[in-house]
Amino acid sequence: MVERAPVIAAWGAGVDSTAMIIELVERGEPIDMVLFADTGSEKTDTYAFIPVFRRWMDRHDVVRYEPRNFKHWPPYDSLGTNMLTNATLPSKAFGRGSCSLKWKVAPQDKWTAQWAPAIRCWGEGGRVVKLIGYDCSSADQRRYAHAEGYADPRYDYRYPLRELGWTRADCIARIERAGLPVPPKSSCFFCPAMRPHEADALSKDELRTIVLMEARAKPRLRTIDGLWRKPVVGRGGATPRPGNITAYIRQHGLLSPSEVDRIVADAPLALVAF
Ligand code: SF4
Repeated sequence: MVERAPVIAAWGAGVDSTAMIIELVERGEPIDMVLFADTGSEKTDTYAFIPVFRRWMDRHDVVRYEPRNFKHWPPYDSLGTNMLTNATLPSKAFGRGSCSLKWKVAPQDKWTAQWAPAIRCWGEGGRVVKLIGYDCSSADQRRYAHAEGYADPRYDYRYPLRELGWTRADCIARIERAGLPVPPKSSCFFCPAMRPHEADALSKDELRTIVLMEARAKPRLRTIDGLWRKPVVGRGGATPRPGNITAYIRQHGLLSPSEVDRIVADAPLALVAF
């Protein structure tokens, strides 16, 4: 038997999984591999944070980081290109759950299947330990319950932040204590789960891509208005917002009306230029 099972940390380059790695490394707990599955459509600030945290990992000399770049997944170079090419939206917009299974979980599992320590561990009847950075806040409670249904017999899933009872605020504080900048919430920059204030923080190029994505998908949408599905009127403390992010971009002047009009008008032909 192996002395201990190999340990992989799934790193989303966001607040939770970053805090999880910092805490475990500084407690001296083993992490043999940090895996980051790049959808090719992460936020600009997320890409900026990756080299910062890599330097922290290098300084602590404890973990290996595998810069998994899954953009080569044929025939698309990113999740965003996949959506634009097919004139559709991420499956989450249609209420079909997260597209992260295809773009995050499956590529990591595929990589792990050829990783020598994992192969050895499985050959000896063991399970690879996978560290998942879900915290104790209500959104992650739901993700956790969902994830539990995807148990894979090759893995023992461990949720260190839940063991610690940490919320997102605890994770932010932990990153700050390590002297690091706090990264944005990790997600594709067009994720349907994005809140309005996250849209406010997007770059102009990201906003333009969202307008193009919704415009290309629009002729095929029957039951939803766009990435945000349906308008939220704002009862019960909810933040009001339209069902598509393009309308929000217009309402809040995040792009000029003429630019939005031009992107929408060019949308059927815009893919070649994109
Ligand atoms: S962040 Fe959102 S759009 Fe991106 S893979 Fe996850 S669920 Fe899909």
